[in-house]
Amino acid sequence: MIKENVKSILANIPEGIKLVAATKERSLEEIEELSGTGVDTIGENYIQQARPKHCVLGDKFKWHLIGHLQKNKTKYAVKIFDMIETLDSIELAKVLDKECRKINKVMPVLIEINSACEPQKNGILPDDLEEFIKAAMVFENIKLKGLMTMGPLLEEAEKIRPYFKKVKNLFDGIRLKHGNELDWEYLSMGMSSSYRVAIEEGANIVRVGTAIFGKRSSQNK
Ligand SMILES: *Cc1c(COP(=O)(O)O)cnc(C)c1O
Repeated sequence: MIKENVKSILANIPEGIKLVAATKERSLEEIEELSGTGVDTIGENYIQQARPKHCVLGDKFKWHLIGHLQKNKTKYAVKIFDMIETLDSIELAKVLDKECRKINKVMPVLIEINSACEPQKNGILPDDLEEFIKAAMVFENIKLKGLMTMGPLLEEAEKIRPYFKKVKNLFDGIRLKHGNELDWEYLSMGMSSSYRVAIEEGANIVRVGTAIFGKRSSQNK
């Protein structure tokens, strides 16, 4: 089932779009089903779940952190992840930079945007992005590579479209302004219910869980 799901998703997305399998709550066996499908990157949300999985499957995939990173878990995160998609504060940038320097690593990061300006959500507000980038550019052991957004959790993907558009505009604006200083490359938007719309709006990374693995057990409750 998992292999077939991946196959049909890959058949329906344009080349050059990176499909990240969102693997929170998934077992090792489920994740191993991805081998040979062409999906080489998985996205994990929690350090506690990711570390034991990485211990077994580390070499088989590229690892993206797609959940909020607590500063006190940063030292573990920098060891196992190949990209942090959820940079959401200057304090975190500072700690990430420090922990990366300790292990001699330069970490690619995406800045998470709180695109609907929801008070309970993490992420940089659109209006604060320019200032945030200027402040985060000074850190030598993290490399700002683009933007990530969740968008509001709405049933209908069409209703999320305006938020994807907004983040694409921010993405393009930063490229215009800072294209020379930054290696500005990735726009990560869209999940199972919205990745098609996100791609239409310019996403080049999509993070898909349910459409690959089926419902998570926490979704059945
Ligand atoms: C769980 C998750 C996804 C995937 O969600 P699905 O609806 O299962 O495709 C994508 N991005 C983030 C940040 C997630 O936490």
